[in-house]
Amino acid sequence: MERTLILLKPDAVQRDLVGEIISRLERKGLKLVGLKLMSLSSELLDEHYSHLVGRSFFPEVKSFMQRTPVVAICVEGYKCVDAVRLLAGVTNSREATPGTIRGEFAMSVQANLIHCSDSLETALVEVPRFFKSEELFEYNDTLQDYVYNSS
Ligand code: UDP
Repeated sequence: MERTLILLKPDAVQRDLVGEIISRLERKGLKLVGLKLMSLSSELLDEHYSHLVGRSFFPEVKSFMQRTPVVAICVEGYKCVDAVRLLAGVTNSREATPGTIRGEFAMSVQANLIHCSDSLETALVEVPRFFKSEELFEYNDTLQDYVYNSS
């Protein structure tokens, strides 16, 4: 089982899309193992978006991500890192496939509603960056047998 990090960005919070997006994760069959609201510090954003430091749009991304608290989510599932990326759609929401979260609800590159880890390697770094171990839960989700059956 993999775990991946999801952030519902300030535009999702402001536009009342938090429930819609969490509902999509649940209906997909993903198991919620961590969930909280949090404000992102400048230092945390520098670390989280270190691949963007130095890009012209980075200061705007930072101030955008600090406009409201974000919803941090950790989900668990078989090969869930790639599955969540597919649910989110590509970075530029205008080009995101209809049916995806960005494709359905967003029109912007920057205000694209959701962050999700881009690989298993990244998820292994990002989940502990946002969640302490005691904030992540292990429990029996009785529907998982039906969600996956044998694979
Ligand atoms: N972003 C932006 N302008 C760009 C590229 C990215 O404002 O030209 C923002 C956008 O919110 C994106 C975030 O920076 O989600 C992180 O960029 P990344 O390339 O990691 O895309 P993601 O993995 O979020 O799709």
